[in-house]
Amino acid sequence: MFKIKVYNRLFINQPCRLCASPLALPNGLCEACHADLPWLLNACKRCGLPLPFTNDSPCRHCDDYPSAIDRTLVPFHYQFPLNRLIPDIKYHKKPAALGWMSHVMAQYLESICTDMPELLIPVPMHRLNEARRGFNQSSLLAYQLSRHLQIPCDHRLLSKTRLTPRQMTLSAEQRRHNLKQAFAIHREPPEHVALIDDVMTTGSTADELAQLLKERGAAKVDLLVMARTPSPEDGELTENQPKAN
Ligand SMILES: [Zn+2]
Ligand SMILES: [Zn+2]
Repeated sequence: MFKIKVYNRLFINQPCRLCASPLALPNGLCEACHADLPWLLNACKRCGLPLPFTNDSPCRHCDDYPSAIDRTLVPFHYQFPLNRLIPDIKYHKKPAALGWMSHVMAQYLESICTDMPELLIPVPMHRLNEARRGFNQSSLLAYQLSRHLQIPCDHRLLSKTRLTPRQMTLSAEQRRHNLKQAFAIHREPPEHVALIDDVMTTGSTADELAQLLKERGAAKVDLLVMARTPSPEDGELTENQPKAN
């Protein structure tokens, strides 16, 4: 795994990580780049899908596809520059952008969340895929969030025990079947936990993990995710739609 401390640098007196302007905020971006990020302003509180206006009730997608996730907190649409940087992190082994991303995400969570979870749990990868990539980007993100938010993180509570085909290639029914018995839980979780992932696409993996956590005693499961794609049930997949692990 990449050394976490490499990405723990403060960005004071460093140029903006996106445009190289010399006036970066402590989170690593200049004010203009920070403002220009694809902020997801109105989203379903349960599944994180973009909505035309703020609504406290679960959306139609939640009615059609009930989930064990209680709340999804997501700052961004999966749009530029995140739809370039996140694939770079995962497929070109360039995890440095997780430094400013986790800092900006922690600031977002602190600004909107009054009841923080007791434990952060990264969505696990199968050990063969993690060995091939060299790291699990969700673990790196969870560690960075843990440091910023002062909330413990446990990357060993859940594991992926079976290799599975990519979720995006499957129907909703096939996705549910694909994930059955693909994960294991190794100890009792606290009452209120949060799963951490980079991008939410179908939500099937998070739902499966939330069910496991609740079977072992968790009462509330949040999903903290960097960016949200439109639901695959709601439209065509785009060329930048992320791949599952
Ligand atoms: Zn900038
Ligand atoms: Zn919803």
